[in-house]
Amino acid sequence: MGMFIANAFTGLKEAGTLLKGFSQLKTDAEVAQKTIELNQIIAAVQNDLFEAQTAYSAAVGRINELEKELMAIKDWSTEQQRYQLYELAPGSFVYRLKAEMAHSEPIHDICPQCYEQSIKSILQFNGYEGAFHKYSCSCCQTMILGEHLRSDVEVISTGGTRFRRWTEGY
Ligand SMILES: [Zn+2]
Repeated sequence: MGMFIANAFTGLKEAGTLLKGFSQLKTDAEVAQKTIELNQIIAAVQNDLFEAQTAYSAAVGRINELEKELMAIKDWSTEQQRYQLYELAPGSFVYRLKAEMAHSEPIHDICPQCYEQSIKSILQFNGYEGAFHKYSCSCCQTMILGEHLRSDVEVISTGGTRFRRWTEGY
């Protein structure tokens, strides 16, 4: 864009110089010749300005896009700060809503994979894996092993593996 505008200014300068020389022209043929040159310069200037206008419109469009992207990033980084890494079970990590950031929302966990992709996806309870709670992400289908059941009674009531082993044993 800058190049086109610089060219346009150069063209206008040339046109000005050419016009100053017009009074010294002696013949109609000379005037006709200089008029052709002047028209060529004006056409080139118009073309440069048209190109500059096109480049300007494209630049404005791109700036708008970037502003939207920046807004989305800002929104996400604000949202991101409401969560912190939390070890749900040994070696099993999620991002958990910080208690001080929960504005009337229940404490919940979000998917660590989706978090890395700047996506907030709440993990949902998805049954049991042995004596562990299991959570799934509806966005990326990740399964996350959750907390261990608290007691044998809880294991039995949920049909965990220990209960099966116990019944098989008798
Ligand atoms: Zn996910």
